[in-house]
Amino acid sequence: MTVHQKVSQAFKAQFGQSPAVVVRAPGRVNLIGEHTDYNDGFVLPMAIDRAVWIALRPRSDTRVRIYSLDYDSHGDFDLTDFAKADDGWLEYIKGTAWAMQQAGQTLSGWEGVLAGDVPLGAGLSSSAALEMASARAFTAVSDLKWQPSAMALFGQQAENHWVGVNCGIMDQMISAAGRAGHALLIDCRSLETEAVPLPPDSVVVVMDTATRRGLVDSAYNERRAQCEEAAAYFGVKALRDVDLLTFEARAAGLNPLPRKRARHVINENDRTMAAVAAMWADDAVTFGRLMNASHISLRDDFEVSSTELNIMVELAQAQGGCYGARMTGGGFGGCAVALVCSTQVGEFAAEVTDVYQLKTRLEPNIYICQATNGAELIAG
Ligand code: ADP
Ligand code: MG
Repeated sequence: MTVHQKVSQAFKAQFGQSPAVVVRAPGRVNLIGEHTDYNDGFVLPMAIDRAVWIALRPRSDTRVRIYSLDYDSHGDFDLTDFAKADDGWLEYIKGTAWAMQQAGQTLSGWEGVLAGDVPLGAGLSSSAALEMASARAFTAVSDLKWQPSAMALFGQQAENHWVGVNCGIMDQMISAAGRAGHALLIDCRSLETEAVPLPPDSVVVVMDTATRRGLVDSAYNERRAQCEEAAAYFGVKALRDVDLLTFEARAAGLNPLPRKRARHVINENDRTMAAVAAMWADDAVTFGRLMNASHISLRDDFEVSSTELNIMVELAQAQGGCYGARMTGGGFGGCAVALVCSTQVGEFAAEVTDVYQLKTRLEPNIYICQATNGAELIAG
């Protein structure tokens, strides 16, 4: 049974009728452009065929009542009077409502059933999917216009200020604005986007190392501070404003760590633009090489990879039919991503699973992904 069928069926069982509205919002994987978002740079994620779904109907009052199938738990709050709590999944929905109301939007209540198949905490951004599904639900029942970048900002505010996770704009933006068959180039300064077709005859494969690291927050804050130090040294707002020639001419005056971090970010922005050009040219080979170079830069200059990520990436790169591979997401654990020739993807997945298991004694998860649309409204 699909998740769509699951939420619709559970809705019928609970309310005795079909849902008036069904919404979905996808998780994502970033193909290239890592740790560039908070430097006002470029990222190139795609929305994946795993999503958070909500089946719902409007209410005539201001209550929001949701049943989470995956947690088997009920949550509710009143839009005129709600506060932060330690309510897990419900906080993402409350946070999204809070951000929308802060911006002056008038929201109506609704009730429904929530479920998803984005793995939780794996780095595929189930939280952004939940925020964007919530925003889609609120806009549907409140007769508001769906504006992807505005909604993405609400989701980011929810995550930053309500849930308390310091994330950039990428996850919400791709979940809101993705396009089937395409990756999305996002300019993290202007929030302009460009849909770029994926190379033909190739598939995106996500490889979860089955490792999660603590201390990620402090490492992330440290990297951000080092990038800011480098930007200040160059006298610009963000590293987005420094090109490679300027960097090379003046890098010697920078402290060693900010210098390495800046070198990654500046090169990664260039690689991301080169990757877009490669995609428009249907050039999977060049795209793959840029992914490989991105991994080395994240490993050596930005220093956010891990033993398991390096094993997974090298293993992927060694397979026939693999154009390229890299760690993806914040780092220190989580997932790697590869671009693989369609006809060889079965063998690729089997071989990577076996050898990774042998080498690490860990059980990886492999997701062969299709690029889907961003948040959507689907009639009941
Ligand atoms: P990630 O975004 O990397 O998947 P996070 O820790 O940021 O991991 O977000 C995961 C949280 O999002 C879950 O703990 C849960 O609260 C919420 N969430 C995601 N998907 C669902 C779902 N299908 N049902 C209920 N809550 C969900
Ligand atoms: Mg998240």
